Amino acid sequence: CGIFAYLNYNARRDRRHIVELLFNGLRRLEHSGYDSAGISIDADLSSGAVLPSPPPLVFRQEGKIENLVSSFYHEASVAELDLELSFTSHAGIAHTWWATHGEPSPINSHPQTSGEGNDFLVVHKGIITNYMDLKETLLKYGFHFESDTDTEVIPKVAKFVHDSLNEDLGSDGGDKQVVPFTQIAMDVMRQLEGAYALMFKSPFYPNELVACKRGSPLLLGVKETGDMRTDINVESDLSAEGHHGKPNEYYLASDANAIVEHTRRVLVIEDNKVVHMKDGAVHIFKFDSDKSRRLLRPASVQR
Ligand code: GLU
Repeated sequence: CGIFAYLNYNARRDRRHIVELLFNGLRRLEHSGYDSAGISIDADLSSGAVLPSPPPLVFRQEGKIENLVSSFYHEASVAELDLELSFTSHAGIAHTWWATHGEPSPINSHPQTSGEGNDFLVVHKGIITNYMDLKETLLKYGFHFESDTDTEVIPKVAKFVHDSLNEDLGSDGGDKQVVPFTQIAMDVMRQLEGAYALMFKSPFYPNELVACKRGSPLLLGVKETGDMRTDINVESDLSAEGHHGKPNEYYLASDANAIVEHTRRVLVIEDNKVVHMKDGAVHIFKFDSDKSRRLLRPASVQR
């Protein structure tokens, strides 16, 4: 299978352009084999600063990428989705799914979701070996599962971690976002066994993207759209500040094929790294088990 993400920062792009870029990324990953495909893009974000922003839109379809493309344009016209609507900054994710768990179907395709509102969306390359244990625990917490995939536990653990951390901090996750997206990814990593390259998208973190990996490939491409230089800040810690204002485009993929047509500036991400894109900057963090908490363990189920 393959995963792909495209993020534009301070570089205005219309929805059609963003979607076509995602489809094109998927076409470049076709050789990895797949049974179905899916993307997530944003609804209209112009309503301003209230979090979470409107739920991201998800389009999934079994079969060829061209099935997804035609069903997207069909659904988009039925829903009167404005393809001319433009976004100054936008994070889109995409996936070609090769069934390791379950039959090809839109519900088993990725992005997989945390549930209603799409608070956390995940695309995944790999296999989670302890998903049954995680699923059992999440069911006790009241989560509902709709797919047969191992991946579905991941956005749900993210949602669990997000809600618990915000609760600890006395925040409802409303107008002020306090828990860094990277913290959530690290806490999720702490729970997962198996192999994965993951990309996370969330309406609590509009225009942000987090990706992490252990055992599955992940590459990052950076294109400087303006004249300015981009700083890729490797090994920064969780308190690192972003560099604001620079117009950039970023690509993440499980295979360089999907990136090199856009930029030659490609970085191979190592195992146990968390890539965070926000406010025109890329930070790459080392997974640090001390910085994450064991939140989802059967012993802690009684709340
Ligand atoms: N194991 C995951 C699933 O079955 C991901 C498979 C893939 O790498 O496409 O949903």
